[in-house]
Amino acid sequence: MIGIIFGPPGSGKGTQAARIEAEFNLKHLSTGEILRAEVARGTPIGKEAGRIMAAGDLVPDKLIVDIVRGRLPEAEAGAGVLLDGFPRTVRQAQALDAMLAEEGHRVDLVIALEVPEGDLIERLLHRAKVEGRADDTRKAITERMHEYHKLTEAVLDHYARQGVALERINGTGTPEQVFDRIRRAIVISSR
Ligand code: AMP
Repeated sequence: MIGIIFGPPGSGKGTQAARIEAEFNLKHLSTGEILRAEVARGTPIGKEAGRIMAAGDLVPDKLIVDIVRGRLPEAEAGAGVLLDGFPRTVRQAQALDAMLAEEGHRVDLVIALEVPEGDLIERLLHRAKVEGRADDTRKAITERMHEYHKLTEAVLDHYARQGVALERINGTGTPEQVFDRIRRAIVISSR
């Protein structure tokens, strides 16, 4: 199975993806985590991406597509893949579809977390205190929300138009409550 966990910044994608990975034996591929590791290691990719990420902007499609192209074959070799934070633009989605098609695969499921914007900002500002992520400043958060509405939301329409199963999940409440809703949706959609 190839799944995407989708949602605005702060909607709980990373938290839920880790749980889904454990319960459904999927390989979790987070482009944000990969980039943060590159930044921490000071690699050329990290140097290119670090400043863009700190400002809350999206890194270039080509850079991110090349990263995914490098990681996807290994991830696809297992029971399934759960993409987190990718694709974030329609171009990335088209590139992903083409990569998967080469292996006779396609996106099977999109799990879209829905959380009111006020809650998202509160969560991200709270995370800033706990984790100290460089892009959890008020200015970068505003930019990330802007990028989400301008470029990323359209990815949902892209997959809806293809008839891919789309599960809209209420992302408010505790992580356990949200995971319970996701688990039910995955079980039902895989019947
Ligand atoms: P995330 O951990 O998914 O919130 O990603 C953190 C930051 O990494 C984003 O705000 C972007 O700057 C960058 N990033 C992660 N994934 C992508 C992507 N698919 N396309 C462009 N930029 C990305």
